[in-house]
Formats: sequence, C-alpha cells, structure tokens
Amino acid sequence: MKDCIFCKISNNIINVNKIFENKELIAFNDNNPQAPFHVLIIPKKHIPTINDIDEIDKVLIGELFIAAKKIAKKNQIEKSGYRLIINCNNDGGQTVFHIHLHMLAKRKLEWPPG
Ligand code: 5GP
Ligand code: ZN
Repeated sequence: MKDCIFCKISNNIINVNKIFENKELIAFNDNNPQAPFHVLIIPKKHIPTINDIDEIDKVLIGELFIAAKKIAKKNQIEKSGYRLIINCNNDGGQTVFHIHLHMLAKRKLEWPPG
C-alpha cells in the first residue's frame, strides 16, 4: 500500500530500529510511547483492521503473539508482565490502518483502560 506508513516501514522506505524481524513480521519501538516499553509488532502484509483478517491469515496472526512472547523473554518482562492491544477503528482508537499489536510494559497499567 503506497500511502501506508507501516508498509513503508516494513519495506525499509522509512527506517526504524527493528527490535525483531522474521519473514512475516517486524517489531519496532512506538515513536510516541505510552509506557517505558512500547513496541509495535506488525505483519509485513498490509491488513487494514482486525475486520479485514481472512481465514488465510490465521497462522500470520498467531505469529504476532509468538513474536510477543519471544520479545518479552528477550527483554526480561515475561515475569513482571505486559499488555498486548490491537485497536480497531474509531472507538477502538486506531490511527494507523495497518494492523499492529501494541506491547506495553515496565509500568503498572491501569484497568479499565481509558
Ligand atoms: P493505533 O492508534 O493505530 O493503535 O497505533 C498507532 C501507533 O503507531 C501509535 O502508538 C503511534 O505512536 C505509532 N506510530 C505512528 N506513526 C509512527 C511512525 O512513523 N513510527 C513509529 N515508530 N511509530 C508510529
Ligand atoms: Zn500497510
């Protein structure tokens, strides 16, 4: 997708410091962090929202969570904990329409969220 910022990041048109990458996905720090640790895990494939996930994406979506587990271990937050969030559309607070898993950690997060 030509005008998608996360496609530009995954195609190396915009450079970010990747903290994880494999064939299907990348992870990098959010540039407006909401916690001391705020990483975004994105599929390289352009999928605008959760509503656009197809049956064929089942394994890919699972890989986002496998990556989160690996990143948690590497950053030693698996015991202290973290929160994974995918926002969807306006009420969900989505601003970038290429799905991404937010990974927040290193502070006590409130519940319910704002
Ligand atoms: P959403 O609101 O769609 O759930 O989350 C989008 C996230 O992407 C926001 O937390 C925002 O700070 C982050 N973001 C938007 N543009 C960029 C960018 O160009 N680089 C990085 N690293 N993060 C971005
Ligand atoms: Zn995209």
